[in-house]
Amino acid sequence: MSRSPSLPERPRLDLDPDMTPSERLAALRSHYSEVLRVNAKLQQQLNTSERRQEKLTDRVDHLQRENETLKSSSLYVATAEELLDQGIVIKQHGNNQEVLTEVSPTLREKINAGDRVAVNDSFGVKEVLEAETDARAQAMQVEQRPGTTYDDIGGLSEQIREVREAVEQPLVQTDQFDAVGIDPPAGVLLHGPPGTGKTMLAKAVASETDATFIKMAGSELVQKFIGEGARLVRDLFELASEHEPAIIFIDEIDAIASTRTESKTSGDAEVQRTMMQLLSEMDGFDDRGEIRIIAATNRFDMLDRAILRPGRFDRLIEVPEPDLTARERILEIHTQEMSLDDVDLNDLAADTDGFTGAELSSLATEAGMFAIRDDRTAIRMEDFQSALGKVRDEDDSAGVPIAFA
Ligand code: ATP
Repeated sequence: MSRSPSLPERPRLDLDPDMTPSERLAALRSHYSEVLRVNAKLQQQLNTSERRQEKLTDRVDHLQRENETLKSSSLYVATAEELLDQGIVIKQHGNNQEVLTEVSPTLREKINAGDRVAVNDSFGVKEVLEAETDARAQAMQVEQRPGTTYDDIGGLSEQIREVREAVEQPLVQTDQFDAVGIDPPAGVLLHGPPGTGKTMLAKAVASETDATFIKMAGSELVQKFIGEGARLVRDLFELASEHEPAIIFIDEIDAIASTRTESKTSGDAEVQRTMMQLLSEMDGFDDRGEIRIIAATNRFDMLDRAILRPGRFDRLIEVPEPDLTARERILEIHTQEMSLDDVDLNDLAADTDGFTGAELSSLATEAGMFAIRDDRTAIRMEDFQSALGKVRDEDDSAGVPIAFA
């Protein structure tokens, strides 16, 4: 949580009765400019608070919508087989049950035979779904050879070593693992605060091994329709085997692998099914050839321990916030293309305690923006100081303390 900024001190005016009129005028002038200065500062704090309020309101809206989706009951997926005068014949996926059902005239106009539709418990058609390929393409991000290398990552040398050992070596030295007679770790779980380089680590290992990088967010796997999440998991592994060698990266794994909540809605059961599908894909991993799986989470505390059992995500790697040396290295990486004019990165690293790699990256970009606004191409320390204020103001969730000079 961020702290509220402290209010500037209220200006006081002490007029000595013995003052001459001109001394009195001078004192009043100085008081007036002090009042203006405090007013400007308060105005600035008010603007910052308003911006923060807007952001928080957006976040509340988003969470409310998410909550509504989770509370709403799941629908079943079916195919519209035939359109008749009496209604529509649908075939439910999974059990292949055929049912003649009613549909509202507006929806009926949109449905063609062969379309996928979502139906409720009493087979009422609720919506027409997009073509399957779209869902699959939208949900997964495939990169043949992501450009990220280990050198692009600041700090994290120990984490890089562990990822190389657990993911890279089994991919490039398969024979050696066979010869020694041990199985490489099934899955690697990276955990730590947002913006600390977890995705970068997964991308770097894919680049260094010439593997296809397939990313999917856990939240994408939480689908509204029963069976869809599990189907996406199957698709994910299928896609990976079409692109071997491949690295599957599941971000926000907590979305499907949180400890079960008390509530027993059909939405929860669906999330549970998706996770079971993921575990069963991982259990059949030995036959999968050159596919490695990396997952990431910011909420390690919430994970269902079932996914951490041997043979599943059995290599845990913590990715912490960068320390002083790591921050300096990250700043070096993000400023290497910039022309710096007397900027002390060591001082900046000392001033950015609590910043994540993502925040340091935006600090460099913001400093560049300040130089551009001032019509310069060289970036000075003062640009970084202004950027520091801005990045701190913007950060209201990751815990960077807000300080007002
Ligand atoms: P999230 O949990 O929010 O998905 P993440 O830990 O996966 O975050 P990344 O997506 O890897 O974080 O990092 C976001 C951006 O922050 C990167 O593109 C990079 O610019 C910068 N960054 C983060 N960590 C580092 C680092 N250790 N070294 C260099 N840049 C970093």
